[in-house]
This record gives sequence, structure tokens and C-alpha cells, in this order.
Amino acid sequence: MGAIRLENVRKTFGNIDVIPGVDLEINDGEFVVFVGPSGCGKSTLLRLIAGLEDVTSGKIMINDVDMADASPAKRGLSMVFQSYALYPHMTVYNNIAFGLKMAGESKAVIEEKVRNAAKILNLTDYLDRRPGALSGGQRQRVAIGRAIVRNPAAFLFDEPLSNLDAALRVNMRLEITGLHQELKTTMIYVTHDQVEAMTMADKIVVLQAGRVEQVGKPMELYTNPANKFVAGFIGSPK
Ligand code: ADP
Ligand code: MG
Repeated sequence: MGAIRLENVRKTFGNIDVIPGVDLEINDGEFVVFVGPSGCGKSTLLRLIAGLEDVTSGKIMINDVDMADASPAKRGLSMVFQSYALYPHMTVYNNIAFGLKMAGESKAVIEEKVRNAAKILNLTDYLDRRPGALSGGQRQRVAIGRAIVRNPAAFLFDEPLSNLDAALRVNMRLEITGLHQELKTTMIYVTHDQVEAMTMADKIVVLQAGRVEQVGKPMELYTNPANKFVAGFIGSPK
């Protein structure tokens, strides 16, 4: 289960109000995209949900449990970073297994989970390679594999494709939405790319200056944007 609720979540850095106050409901199994221009607070919001930053005020609930005192590990969420966060000296197998080893899982459990993730991600033939001997898309899949083996309540993606070239980005979009259809796990996906948002999301959250401008299905935003900012950003004719 991965239902996430934000109640008046606020984040200040010094005296800068980066997130003045966000209310948001994410249903279990939803693919939600946070989209907005660079610097609008997307990463900060994701890091607050992950527990990598503390809220200044407000509440984050996961499956109706208040996360105020929950460490990132306790929240049961997996962040997927850009592929350059892989360990270059480790094999694909060990990169995917790393978090499980840290968590003290048995060798047999690790092997089963890594092989299962590799199968889902088409990496079975690459487990002995090091990241340097993989394509950009394969490296990104390894980064996703690390998240899958933790069996998270939700996946949190922060602009995972921004390092890849345009053609590969289109491919990886399909792979990630395909993965969502297969796993049916809640996914929050952060991007500044409107096309990614429109093509991938069940639900889009449009952010500007740390505020939610609109929440809705891609077609709802397109046909019925709440304001000029959303219309302009989504490229709606209105
Ligand atoms: P986005 O991911 O949408 O590009 P960020 O969440 O990274 O935006 O940043 C939102 C704003 O918060 C920016 O103005 C950024 O400079 C500021 N910010 C982010 N992290 C910190 C920090 N640790 N200390 C101070 N300011 C920060
Ligand atoms: Mg960011």
C-alpha cells in the first residue's frame, strides 16, 4: 500500500519560504507527476516525502500514519536517482543488491530479489558487468532495479531521465510506465518536462513557486486549465 497525504506542508530554508503550504492526496497505486519550472520546489517536496528533509510545519501521512518521526528507511519509499548515482566499481548485481546487503538480508533472499528485478528490467545478461560497460538506458534500469528489490510502498523519481538523450528518454518513459502497470505500486515522478508529464501521469500536480497551481488528469489540465500559468505551461490552447 502506498497512499500518501500532505496536510499544509511547509518548508523554509532560512527566511525563504520554498514551500509555503501544500495539501495533496496521492492514492495507492497512482502514477503522479510533479511538474513545474526549475526552482519551483519539486525536489524539495519529494525530499520532504522521502524524509530526507524535515518539514517546517504540516503533516505527511503514509497509509494514514504520521511520518513526523519516521526516518527515511522507516517510510518504506525508494528514491530513484539519475543513473550516475551507481557505484562504478561494483557489478550490476552488487549495485542492485547493495541496499539489501546494508539491510542485512540473507544471501538467498538477495539472490532471489536481484534475479527477479533483473528479469523485470531485462538485465539478466548484464549482472556481471560494471556500469561503465552498459548503455545509458541499461544504467538507468540498474538504478530502478535498486529501488525494486526494496519492495517499496512507493517509488520516488527525481528527473531520472534528464541525463539521457532524447530518443532514449522516450524509450525509458515507456519502460517506467510499463513497470508501473506491472508492479501497480504508487509512483511519484518529478520532471520539468511537460511532455513527460502529459504522457506518463495518471495525475499531474502543477507547481509554481512552491504552490500547487492545479491537480488533475492530463486531459483535464489540457482542456480545463485552472489559470494562465497552467495553460501556458501545459501548452493548452486556452
Ligand atoms: P526544483 O527541483 O523544482 O528545481 P528545488 O526543490 O531544488 O526546485 O528548489 C526550490 C528552491 O529551494 C530553490 O530556490 C532552491 O534554491 C531552494 N533550495 C533547495 N534546497 C535548498 C537548501 N538546502 N538550502 C537553501 N535553499 C534551497
Ligand atoms: Mg529538482
